Amino acid sequence: DPRPIRRALISVSDKTGLAELGQALADRGVELISTGGTASALRDAGLEVIDVAELTGFPEMMDGRVKTLHPMVHGGLLALRDDPAHQADLEQHRIGEIDLLVVNLYPFEATVAAGADYDTCIENIDIGGPAMIRAAAKNHAHVAVVVDTEDYDRLLGDMDQHDGATCAKFRRKLAQIAYARTAAYDAAVSTWMADAIGVDTPRRRAVAGTLAQSLRYGENPHQRAAFYVDGSDRPGVATATQHQGKELSYNNINDTDAAFELVSEFAPEDGPACAIIKHANPCGVARGATLREAYSRAFDCDRTSAFGGIIALNQTLDGATAEEITSIFTEVVIAPDADEAARAVFAGKKNLRLLTTGALADPRAAALTVRQVSGGLLVQDKDTGTLSPDDLKVVTRRAPSDAELADLLFAWTVAKHVKSNAIIYVKDGATVGVGAGQMSRVDSTRIAARKAADMAETLGLPVPLTQGSVVASDAFFPFADGLVTAAEAGATALIQPGGSMRDEEVIAAADAAGLAMVFTGMRHFRH
Ligand code: 5GP
Repeated sequence: DPRPIRRALISVSDKTGLAELGQALADRGVELISTGGTASALRDAGLEVIDVAELTGFPEMMDGRVKTLHPMVHGGLLALRDDPAHQADLEQHRIGEIDLLVVNLYPFEATVAAGADYDTCIENIDIGGPAMIRAAAKNHAHVAVVVDTEDYDRLLGDMDQHDGATCAKFRRKLAQIAYARTAAYDAAVSTWMADAIGVDTPRRRAVAGTLAQSLRYGENPHQRAAFYVDGSDRPGVATATQHQGKELSYNNINDTDAAFELVSEFAPEDGPACAIIKHANPCGVARGATLREAYSRAFDCDRTSAFGGIIALNQTLDGATAEEITSIFTEVVIAPDADEAARAVFAGKKNLRLLTTGALADPRAAALTVRQVSGGLLVQDKDTGTLSPDDLKVVTRRAPSDAELADLLFAWTVAKHVKSNAIIYVKDGATVGVGAGQMSRVDSTRIAARKAADMAETLGLPVPLTQGSVVASDAFFPFADGLVTAAEAGATALIQPGGSMRDEEVIAAADAAGLAMVFTGMRHFRH
């Protein structure tokens, strides 16, 4: 599959590294074809160049709007090398193959950033460049395409590794980068234009996705909104089937996603599990002997908050569980599937939305998360961090018992899905207190304990369920006070990343209270 490079078309606005690249290609016996400015720069560097105009038989015209838009160029880029009909076409029309395309585009983004007027921006929309890039990238089985001056060295490196050819893997990578560039370029044009002409609807924005739904409104009724899908087949809210109920709202989609991602941490073969979400945070997560029990135990963590919540289940929804769920108002239920009995129960609840996904999501599957800030996007790997018991370091005199350890890992898994500062109390595979989104860790610890005390009153229990529970903290305790609060609430074991300046102090407080504590060395901030 290595493809030799005999002819290259170079057409670049940014001439950085051009002379060196031209020279390196010429040294490797590559014939160079170029557009006006690029050809002059290469000639200035003493290189031999064929003008595109000579190739096409047409001069570059209309201020450069039409230079390379010609079958002599596009035929040479798009022809399949192993297709006799394509080869016959090349021959009949005397079109030469182009094995390498090096293009960087008119600096549209920089022109906009410099505050240029409307007409100047329009003039800086590259037409021939993206057309060639997309053609070469489509034909990456045979053609290499470079769109970034930073990739010149990698191109030459790959050629040197393959005797002047490029390998298929490298060409595929280049093609992916090429489409990322043309997509970003057109997105920049569309975004600039929306600003320039005053179009501000979220329904016609250039984002990396396809418009799936015009939402009635966004997070609040005065915000317009839309839902775009990225075409991924990952089980989840974007790909789910909705069986009944009104259209999902912006907040429903956000919360349903949070619920399903959390419940997907619990493999169906390890037993039933349920997560109830409010405002993107869990207000109850539990395992149970049955799905119905898992739901009830999750509900018992915080019955007040669960009203109007989003419920996610890790197994097929059955009639008994559906029956239990309908005893209070719920916005959305999402599960891998729902049986006949469950659907019949829900059929009477017109406002309840039921979504099925076919399967759970893979919490270990790599993905990116994107968040917008003023003037930019923050992009990062999705948090796919998981722990096994071997990763844990016991730091206290007492080590956790097996039962405590199981609950610690359960609590840690939930903590990953709770907004920071996150403190989770767990007992027997069910959350009994969740402290979320506080600006201080000790407050999250207190709030979770207080909610557990409130629930004990509601349920008529003699003591809060935090008695004999374990606690997870998504990041280290900066002081001993949070740990002391947890111990006072009755916690017997604690899991946290460790790594605070005051770890010694925190460990000493744990030992003094007879707590078992383990460090994970990994943290789960979520904002
Ligand atoms: P040069 O400096 O070589 O004259 O022009 C290089 C630029 O022209 C590159 O940014 C390339 O993307 C762009 N280009 C190449 N062919 C065409 C075309 O047919 N139309 C337009 N508008 N731009 C082109």
